[in-house]
Amino acid sequence: MDIEQFRKAGYQAIDRICDYYTSLRDRPVLSQVEPGYLRKALPASAPTEGEDFQLIADDYQKYIVPGLTHWQHPSFFAYFPTASTFEGILGELYAASVPTPGFNWSASPACTELEAVVMDWTAQILGLDKSFYNTTEVGGGVIQTTASDSALIATVAARSRYIREHPHVAIEKLVLYTTTQTHSLGKKAGLVLGLKVRALEVTAEDDFALRGETLEVALKEDVDAGLHPFVLIATIGTTSSGAVDRLDEISDVAKRYPFLWLHVDAAWAGVALVCPEYREACQLPAVNHYADSFCTNFHKWGLINFDASCLWVRHRKHLTDALDVTPEFLRSKHGDAGTVIDYRNWHLGLGRRFRSLKFWFVLRSRGVTGFRRYITDCTKLNATFAERIRESDQFCLVAKPFLALTVFRLAPKSLPHLTALELNALNRAFYGRLASRSDIAITQTDLNGVFCVRMAIGAEKTVEGDVDRALDVIGREGRATLREWENVGTIS
Ligand SMILES: *Cc1c(COP(=O)(O)O)cnc(C)c1O
Repeated sequence: MDIEQFRKAGYQAIDRICDYYTSLRDRPVLSQVEPGYLRKALPASAPTEGEDFQLIADDYQKYIVPGLTHWQHPSFFAYFPTASTFEGILGELYAASVPTPGFNWSASPACTELEAVVMDWTAQILGLDKSFYNTTEVGGGVIQTTASDSALIATVAARSRYIREHPHVAIEKLVLYTTTQTHSLGKKAGLVLGLKVRALEVTAEDDFALRGETLEVALKEDVDAGLHPFVLIATIGTTSSGAVDRLDEISDVAKRYPFLWLHVDAAWAGVALVCPEYREACQLPAVNHYADSFCTNFHKWGLINFDASCLWVRHRKHLTDALDVTPEFLRSKHGDAGTVIDYRNWHLGLGRRFRSLKFWFVLRSRGVTGFRRYITDCTKLNATFAERIRESDQFCLVAKPFLALTVFRLAPKSLPHLTALELNALNRAFYGRLASRSDIAITQTDLNGVFCVRMAIGAEKTVEGDVDRALDVIGREGRATLREWENVGTIS
């Protein structure tokens, strides 16, 4: 491809991306292809001779687009949102045009320096304590791929600190604490690092939040049994129900166990801290007073294209002590002098993507005001949705709606005597109906044995009409489920 062909293909690509975004509402949100559809459609081997790019671009439309789930679709309410903005897309495009592995400062000074700056900007807009800023040269922030990587890195740093301070403790005695509502990243960190994991119990009465007393009892039990709990992964905004662990109580307990590293996973909800009115409910004061590390994903509810997971630590030396391996070929003048950040020592890989560019583009283009408006718009839409569920005779809320997430289920007033098992069966049937549709994407969860449906709002294009349509679909499928139940007497 020469420069003129590149220009032409580039213009066409941007045009088609714009067409894609303006046609989202007319597409089914969920792909309707069957497993294996693509292998059937594509040749078994790569071409021997290069092909015309126009053909390749057209095949993208023909074969790939039909196999896409449209996460930016206004009727996408499944899982949690995945951010995409035009500024973010352009940031990715520019970054792709200057591939730099960015592992140390001299690999591309702009890459490291911009990351250090945007991580301070984001820390500031979220109201994080200054001790997390890169300018302190003590704490600092780094962009990771995912919240799972962030939790793994925090656990590696915590383990390394613990072992340094307790050199005679055998690794098998170490324990990683999570709760029963912690994202699977907790278990995964345990698997990867070969650690014992203890999931502390949380209850519906406490809105599925970890209480200080539960932590205290567990710490006492484990320490008495000769075990060494060394890290707790707490959550602000759990995936199932948006629960916020009681970090105020947790830090009161943890003060008496100063070797316990507190990592706060706020993958989804953390971005809401941009709005001062949500900071108390998100336990920000306790994060600022006590957390050793804090993570939020701007690629979820934060308008920045995947991947954009932010990790801040109060003491960067715990990261670099754990991860700095510097053979001769990686030494550099500024790295040796310690006058620059070498981000290779803040994550698992050596090379890293130039992710700060899209942060810079989006933060500047939207401003703090744009971020706040987006978050409050989503939250208002969810409040409307939750209110309609609360008022209905058919449905009930299963957990307190939080920010842009509502967890609900069918609980018809006309059938007051259903057992817990019957209600779960009824709701599985109801969810099965929702899941078989391609005009709405919504997912399910289980809260301590209660099967329920999650409605998570966050696509930038979602407006009130889309939420009304979702309510309409949910209402109709609910009624259909009940008719079926009343006809058959039960649902298999
Ligand atoms: C989505 C989510 C994660 C996982 O995020 P990745 O970045 O995909 O690893 C972790 N924790 C919570 C609370 C989440 O909602």
